Amino acid sequence: MKESPSLVSWEHICKHLKQGGLGFKDLHCWNIATIGKYAWWVANKKDHLWVRWVHAIYIKQVQWQEYKPGIGSSWAWRKICQAKDRLKHLIFSPGSDYSIKSGYVWLKPDSEKVPWYPWMLNKWIVPKHSFLCWLVASERLLTQDRLVKMGVIQQNVCYLCGLQEESHQHLFFECIYSMKCIQVVSAWCMVDLPHMECIKWWTDWRQSSACMKKIVAVILACSMYHIWYARNTCMLEGYVHIPKRIGRCVKQDSIRRLKNLVIKCKNSRVLQWIDSILY
Ligand SMILES: [Zn+2]
Repeated sequence: MKESPSLVSWEHICKHLKQGGLGFKDLHCWNIATIGKYAWWVANKKDHLWVRWVHAIYIKQVQWQEYKPGIGSSWAWRKICQAKDRLKHLIFSPGSDYSIKSGYVWLKPDSEKVPWYPWMLNKWIVPKHSFLCWLVASERLLTQDRLVKMGVIQQNVCYLCGLQEESHQHLFFECIYSMKCIQVVSAWCMVDLPHMECIKWWTDWRQSSACMKKIVAVILACSMYHIWYARNTCMLEGYVHIPKRIGRCVKQDSIRRLKNLVIKCKNSRVLQWIDSILY
């Protein structure tokens, strides 16, 4: 079976949620960090039987920090020496108390936080909607502008409006069709959802109730999911649902989700608002 290209690199997926990844463990780095523990033992646990043995047989009179394995050394020993070289700043720092976690963090240092990470940490959002939003924020969906760059297609016209070129920015934040869908959703939930850069708007939105902010994120994420769904229906089946129908789907999905959550909120104004959108 022919493998299709990955939407997102493994390296990006392995970043922490706050750094725009999905928080997967990078097992290659974790493995090196684990082996690093042996290298740290060799430096610090001189009375350990195995450590005395490697000093007597392999390292002999050489300093462990400078030691290089011989050609005939075993695979496992060479791996320990490689881990020692990669992690030497930690292993040989005075008074170091090496842990696998500290080794892993050293190998995969934190990068800058993305502004939309609270969106990813919001467990109220339906997971498949959250994943779609992550792909949008990372600009990793196979939108037509990317397919043109890959040489898969030659022409780029937005399926939904037929007016402009399709890109993440256009489809979710500028397209007249998705703007109409958002208007329908706005009218239902009584929150004036801006269309431009809704993720950015949500991040900057000053709202005294954290609960309300989380609920609006559920609704926005659901809207983005259904806009992408409408786009795919049009691409595959050749017809466009009317924005009212998309708005209705967003409303139904959001209500189903919100009714299944245990929402603890003391703000009576927000409670009233929740009641009015759910019932
Ligand atoms: Zn469009």
